[in-house]
Formats: sequence, C-alpha cells, structure tokens
Amino acid sequence: MAQLTLDSVTKRFDDVTAVDDVSIDIDDGEFLVLVGPSGCGKSTTLRMIAGLESISDGEIRLDGTPLKGKRPKERDIAMVFQSYALYPHMTVRENMSFGLEESTDLPAAEIRETVEATAEMLDIEELLERKPGELSGGQQQRVALGRAIVRDPKVFLMDEPLSNLDAKLRSQMRTELQRLQEDLGVTTVYVTHDQTEAMTMGDRIAILDGGKLQQVATPLEAYHRPANRFVAGFIGEPSMNFFEMDVEGDSLVHDAFTYALSDSTQAAIGGVERVTLGIRPEDIELVADPNGDHTYQTTVDVVEPMGNENAVYLQFDDDTRFVATIGGMRQVQSGETVNVQIPEDAVHIFDAETGAVLQNRSLDDAELSEPDPQI
Ligand code: ATP
Repeated sequence: MAQLTLDSVTKRFDDVTAVDDVSIDIDDGEFLVLVGPSGCGKSTTLRMIAGLESISDGEIRLDGTPLKGKRPKERDIAMVFQSYALYPHMTVRENMSFGLEESTDLPAAEIRETVEATAEMLDIEELLERKPGELSGGQQQRVALGRAIVRDPKVFLMDEPLSNLDAKLRSQMRTELQRLQEDLGVTTVYVTHDQTEAMTMGDRIAILDGGKLQQVATPLEAYHRPANRFVAGFIGEPSMNFFEMDVEGDSLVHDAFTYALSDSTQAAIGGVERVTLGIRPEDIELVADPNGDHTYQTTVDVVEPMGNENAVYLQFDDDTRFVATIGGMRQVQSGETVNVQIPEDAVHIFDAETGAVLQNRSLDDAELSEPDPQI
C-alpha cells in the first residue's frame, strides 16, 4: 500500500511562488505524470516529496502519515534523476548495492541476490563489473533505474529520466518503463515537459503552469475535455487552433469569419462577451461544398507531409492562420483554395478572459474509456 497525498502544498523561494496550493491524491500503484512547461514547478514538487526541499505551506502524506520531519533516507521513496547521478568510481554492481548497504542491515548475500535479479530484469547483468564511464546513455539510465528498484521503495520519483536519450531509445524506454512500473506496482510520480511522454505513460496526468495545478485527469480526458485553454493548448501536437471571438447574438464574430451557434452552445456561453474558439487540427475537414454549415474558404500556405498524414497550414484572407491535419494520401498544394469545415460538435469554447472552458467538444463516455485489452 502506498497512497501519496499532496494537500495544499506551496513552496516559496523569497518572492517566487514555485508551487502554489497544489493538491493531488495519487493512488496505490498509480503512474502519475507531472507535466508542464519549463519553470512550472514540476521538479520542486518532486523534491518536496523526496524531502530534498522543505515545504512552505501544506502537507505531504504517505499512507496517511505526514512526511514532515522525515529525512530523505527515511521516506521509503527512491528517486531517479535526469543526470542518473551514478558514482563514477564505482562499478554498476557497487552503484546498485550502495543504497542497500547504507540504509538497511540486509546480509551481503541477500543484497547480492537482489542486485543480480534486478540487473537481469533490466538486461544489464553483463555490465555489473563495468564503471558508468564505460556505459552508453541508455545503459546508465538502466543502472539508475536498477538502483531505485533494488531499494524496493513505496514510491518512485522520476525527474525527466529519459531526456538524455536519443529519440528511438527514448520511445523504447518509454514502453519498457511503463511495463516495469506495472509489473512492480510501485506508486510512481514521473516529471516531464514532454507531452508525448505524458500522454503515453501516465494512468493520469497532472498539468502545472506557473506553479498552479491546471487539471488532473486521464490523458484522454485532458485531451478531449481540457479544463481550460492552457491544458487544451499544451496537450496535443500540432496544438489546438485558437480564435479570439466576440459573442454577438447567436454568432461568434472574428475579423476573418463568423461562426453560427446552436442554442445549446449559446446557453453554455451564457453572458460571456468574449470567447476563444478552439478546434483540434484533426477535427477540421476539407470539404467540396463551399455552402455547408460552418464552412469557410481559405488558402493553403504550406503543406508538411508526414507520411501517415499531412499538416496543412491554412490562412484566411486577413492572414489569420491555423493548421489542419488530413490523410497522408490526400494531395493539396500550396496556394490552392480549399473549403474547410469546423464542425460545431468538435469545437471547444473558453472564456477569453479567464481561460476556463465553457463547452468542450461532444464525445461519448465510451470514447474516453481505455481500450478493452480483450479486443
Ligand atoms: P524545468 O522543466 O525547467 O526543470 P520545472 O517545472 O521543474 O522546470 P522548477 O525547477 O520546479 O520548475 O522551478 C519552479 C520555479 O521556482 C522557477 O521559477 C524557478 O526559477 C524557481 N526556483 C526553483 N528552485 C529555486 C531555488 N532554489 N531558489 C529560487 N528559485 C527557485
């Protein structure tokens, strides 16, 4: 059992509030990804959980017991750093054994057995007698993970552990880490600024901006039902398109186009006078009929072929730009005039002033659930 609770946690460094009143309940065995742009407070949050940084306000509890006053070693938490932080003069075996020798009174034979079993699990048993300087980045990463695993902690904390690896190795380690975490069932908090890692690895993701928690949700919920404009723009690549619009009667008005609203969308907007209309690139359709609902004439600026799909950069007459993604086999040329449809059931509407969502795209709950592993 290892349930981790962050209860109104705040961290101030002089006049900077790095983490601002953050509350998250992390379930036993859960993989929670903490994500956000540089400087949003991710590492500081992790360091407070580890006991490497004091807390200005609020409380962190592990299985209901406050961690305050416990030194990092006494917390039953293991941290994996971006830099790996291996001891260069020690062999892999010594690096992996060191923590156990220091913090437990396990007999040497048992430590040896644990280290060798873990090395085998990580496929580094051949490397046990080498020093970190004789290993590749990916191998060093495994040793750093191994050192955390042998301690059999209640919680893993990982701070951008894959960011020093090349793209291919990173995606391989992503799946490997997920599998490992699932097999071990250890509650994990994983920090990254990479939204692909957040989307693919986490049971849930917690999105931070400016020290404030924006949303805690499953990756699909965050993608389809963002709590605000920040989350909508941060999650997804290419990003959601945004248009700043005035509410005028039963329409939204932009210099480039007018968007008619159904009664239900008008009701969701209520009395708000200025909104941001959001649409994901894959929800924009290129259509033949220029007279359909929510259909506009635009010009293709640039086409980026990506094989499976094309990113089509479009512009209205007034130069307002946005991006649509279409099937890779579909041909469009730069300079071509195309009709785009922005379907009302796929748009997100945010309060332009506060950024809070007023209406998310329509979606069945079934579309948000995890795929059935039987299928
Ligand atoms: P990155 O992805 O760049 O590592 P992060 O989201 O992990 O960023 P933090 O390192 O937690 O962000 O920093 C959050 C804020 O707190 C930043 O504004 C940072 O400058 C500030 N900060 C962090 N550590 C200290 C410190 N020891 N003293 C003063 N300010 C600090």
